[in-house]
Parts: sequence; structure tokens; C-alpha cells
Amino acid sequence: MTAIARTDLLDDLVAANHILAGLGVLDGFGHVSVRDPDDPDAYLMSRSLAPELVDPDDIMAFDLASSPRHGDTRTPYLERFIHGAIYARRPDVHAVVHSHAPGVVPFAASTVPLRPVYHMGSFLGAGVPVFEIRERFGMTDMLVRNGAQGQALADALADRSVVLMRGHGFCAVGDSVPVAVFRAAYTQANAALQQQAIALGGDVTYLDDAEAKQADATNRSVIARPWALWKARYHRRMGA
Ligand code: MN
Repeated sequence: MTAIARTDLLDDLVAANHILAGLGVLDGFGHVSVRDPDDPDAYLMSRSLAPELVDPDDIMAFDLASSPRHGDTRTPYLERFIHGAIYARRPDVHAVVHSHAPGVVPFAASTVPLRPVYHMGSFLGAGVPVFEIRERFGMTDMLVRNGAQGQALADALADRSVVLMRGHGFCAVGDSVPVAVFRAAYTQANAALQQQAIALGGDVTYLDDAEAKQADATNRSVIARPWALWKARYHRRMGA
């Protein structure tokens, strides 16, 4: 990848931190990463910092065991293992978002599955697994703190776009930064709408699998539009 393309990707990664903070998907916690365009066995992510405060200089490189590369001694996120394990298991994934968005957490604690209630949530149609950390690790502080826990989470995600984490939050993945950001944002939006639909008290009709597949294909073809909006807002806020 050329130097200019790498600079663009870093700009997308920094923008993704700010965009997801602006959408309330990330707050003081959560993180977003991208696979290194020059080395598929590495990924790029901020040092331990609130996403809205991330600058290009804060980006670190990690190997897929989630050890910092190049002797970087800055403090990394405790839960960086989420990212390395997903990149190791999923060669198709090039960006990962981890979030504690409160509107999504109820679905990670309930037997009610998160399902696509409108077309913008169609990527959820393949099913949304819930990672239960107790199954293999017993009583923990709920964080994904090591490679084994990261691998168990990646196993729960399997080939899906989103995995919920019981008592914790969720992860959304994509083959690019805009796709992962889109999925994280619309996981949150779909969760809010689904809860409202359930609260109305009637029967809820979700997207059929065939509808979800068609809507997902359509959405994927127009992701550049919301991404352009989100990036323009970010650059305006930054005074660029
Ligand atoms: Mn977390």
C-alpha cells in the first residue's frame, strides 16, 4: 500500500474513534482497530485513551497476539486481545469495533435475541450470538484480558458481523473501517428500535432472512454516503 493510502487509512481510523464517540457508540471506553494494510498479521489501534481524544500520534501497532510492535512501551487497552483474536480467526475482517453502548447491553443479558427490526439492521439477519465468558472462564471481571479469552470471543463471533458479550457490550466487524463503523452504529440503532417495538406489546415482525440478505447487499453498496457525512462532520469539528 502506498504511503498516501496508509495516511488515508490512519485518518479513517482516527475519524472512526471520533465518529463512534459522537454517535454514543463509544464513550470513555471501547475501541476501534484496523488491520495493518502493509502486514495482515498486524493491526493498528490507539493507546489506552478515550476514543474522542485519539489523535494520529496515539496509534500503536500490534501483532495478532496483541503484543505491541516496534518496542512501543505506551499503555495499551486491557482488552486489545479482542482485536488480535478476531483478526487471527477472520482473514476477511479488516476493522473491529468494541463497544459498551447501553442500548445494546439488554440484548446481551436477555433470552430475547437481537434481530433486524428494519432494513438498516439487515446485517444482523445472519444471527447475533451472545458470548458467555462464564462458560470457559468462570467468574471474571467480565473483560477480555488475554489471548484465550479473545479466541473464545472470536469463536462465538464465528462468521457473523456482530457478537454480543453478556454483562459487557458487543463487537462489530467489517471488511473496512466504514463497514465496521456502520455496523456498530446500526447495531445500536436497531437495538433501540427493537426494544420500542417489543414495548408496544403486539407481535413484532422482523426482517425475513431473504429480506435481510437483499437489504444488506443494498446497504453495502451505499455505505460511502453515511461515511462521507460522518467524516465531514468529524473534519468540521476538528476545524480541518
Ligand atoms: Mn469492554
